[in-house]
Amino acid sequence: MTIKVKRQLNDGPNIRREKEIVSKMIYIYCKKKHNQKVFCEECQDLNDYAWKRLSLCPFGEEKAACAKCSIHCYKQDYRERIKIIMRFSGPWMLLYHPIESIRHFRIPGKLRK
Ligand SMILES: [Zn+2]
Repeated sequence: MTIKVKRQLNDGPNIRREKEIVSKMIYIYCKKKHNQKVFCEECQDLNDYAWKRLSLCPFGEEKAACAKCSIHCYKQDYRERIKIIMRFSGPWMLLYHPIESIRHFRIPGKLRK
């Protein structure tokens, strides 16, 4: 029997907020693209994956937004999927959750005055 040292999972306020944001974005995408009221299987899977990555993020509470992170811990296919979702849901986030969005995303230069 091997003794496995369990890594402490991240559970600080920043990580929790990130999880909330990523779930909201996937939710918007699934609702509008897949016409689901709850996550479809594929989106649920991606959501679980994103949460797991956040729980294990080596930066923990110090982490920057994932898009700006130097590690890119996502597996290739998940990365592609989350990118598509971010691109799709980003503008909706500004509409539905402006405070979180402004905190989380840097507003692209061309939108600035
Ligand atoms: Zn879906």
